[in-house]
Amino acid sequence: KPVILWFRKDLRLDDNRALDAAHRSGRPIIPLYISEPEAAGTGPLGAAQAWWLHHSLEALDRSLRKRRSRLVLASGEAFEVLRAFIRESGAEAVFWNRRYDPAGISIDVRIKHELEKQAIEARSFGGQLLHEPSRLMTGNGTPYRVYTPFWRALEGGGEPEPPLEAPAKLRLASQLPKSEALESWKLLPTKRDWAGDFTDLWTPGEEGAHEKLRAFIEDALDGYKENRDYPARPATSMLSPHLAFGEISPARIWDATRGLSKRVAAADVVHFRKEIAWREFSYHLLFHFPRLASNNWNERFDGFEWRSDDDDFRAWRRGMTGYPIIDAGMRQLWRHGWMHNRVRMIVASFLIKDLMIDWRRGEAWFRDTLVDADPANNAASWQWVAGSGADASPFFRIFNPVLQGEKFDPDGKYVRSYVPELRELGAKYIHRPFEAPRSMLDEAGIALGQTYPKPIVDHALARNRALAAYNATRDAA
Ligand code: FAD
Repeated sequence: KPVILWFRKDLRLDDNRALDAAHRSGRPIIPLYISEPEAAGTGPLGAAQAWWLHHSLEALDRSLRKRRSRLVLASGEAFEVLRAFIRESGAEAVFWNRRYDPAGISIDVRIKHELEKQAIEARSFGGQLLHEPSRLMTGNGTPYRVYTPFWRALEGGGEPEPPLEAPAKLRLASQLPKSEALESWKLLPTKRDWAGDFTDLWTPGEEGAHEKLRAFIEDALDGYKENRDYPARPATSMLSPHLAFGEISPARIWDATRGLSKRVAAADVVHFRKEIAWREFSYHLLFHFPRLASNNWNERFDGFEWRSDDDDFRAWRRGMTGYPIIDAGMRQLWRHGWMHNRVRMIVASFLIKDLMIDWRRGEAWFRDTLVDADPANNAASWQWVAGSGADASPFFRIFNPVLQGEKFDPDGKYVRSYVPELRELGAKYIHRPFEAPRSMLDEAGIALGQTYPKPIVDHALARNRALAAYNATRDAA
């Protein structure tokens, strides 16, 4: 009797514990992916991730076929789909890897319960995280709220389980239920191909993930700690979308950074692992405090008087704020579905503090446009910047977009690659074109207010406005 192997955001064969267990059970396997409308508890799948999912499912099907298997696609409420498949195939077990977002958890708990009631074996496995979110707890048995002690616990808590190799061959069930056609899910852009440039950077699927990991370790891990803050340097792993879709496991990444001490400085390895640990921490927070997904973690922010200026919000989304580092970041996001971490912090600070627009609107835009949109990392990072999160940057720390640009993109290379209107402007004014002498702007072919916008807010005034609003909520509390 077959076992249904239910793939979700674990679109890989390598280090996949549910798959490993299904394989070892000796039963024929039905590899299944369900497009679940009800899993959208943290918002619908964004357009950029829909593009990714399409290609990732194709890649997964290819790797299954290499192992004499293939992927079956179905859509609908997960329990209903599983029930129909069980009836049709006579399967007596369903295996999956756990997810940790509140909507996913509540669906899975219900399904497990229902399946067990019908004497179907329902088994779930870890492996999407280095450690289960309930494994690392403070001495009092409570969840961590601050990153540094969490990291210490993770670092001192023993090595994660070693990654498992993918089986060379899989036993496919002889009677496979009929698969829906991937094209019928319409995941790719229809009208305009806004994802045309995505393939410059991305190869969805686990082969692409392993290639990114290999290239990063070879070319960029050495020096990571210093270089990772400079958006023009190819210094980070770009593994985030692969992790978001589970095309590679964190244990595989952790394992690959072992034993490199001859070539790579230990401080770089530790720093990289600390970033992987930020992902763990975000999941730890989301798991223990599910309200984090869409509510201020710190309730004091519930009274904050956000502005709802749609023109400002549109200018931010389109990269037309008049602050070059912001505009470069927002255009990188649109063009490649990804943005450098330093710039994410700067654009988020600008939206929340300079424009005083609710972080949830920024979070939703990121969810729609990022290929790596992740329910834990996205919400936790936005709340970190807003100051409303668990372990958060204080609200009064307001990034100056000009100084941040000058510090982290000193020659303006990053700005020039995404804001072509400013390409001819020298480094001195590249982050403050609004202060450049007229003659210099003319020479660079820039007409402020026409070819490139004037700043939509004055940073110094906006800063004071934000601090006053923040103090008002504090006084009211
Ligand atoms: P690397 O520097 O190579 O890091 C390796 C991995 O560590 C990343 O792939 C990621 O899984 C994890 N990581 C790195 N930095 C962080 C961090 N600050 N917080 C949590 N995990 C981290 N990351 C997402 O994966 N999805 C999101 O939706 C997301 N939204 C964000 C929103 C804002 C406002 C901010 C400030 C940050 C956000 N991040 C998000 C975190 C971070 O920007 C990205 O993980 C990182 O830029 C991905 O690039 P990389 O894989 O090259 O990172």
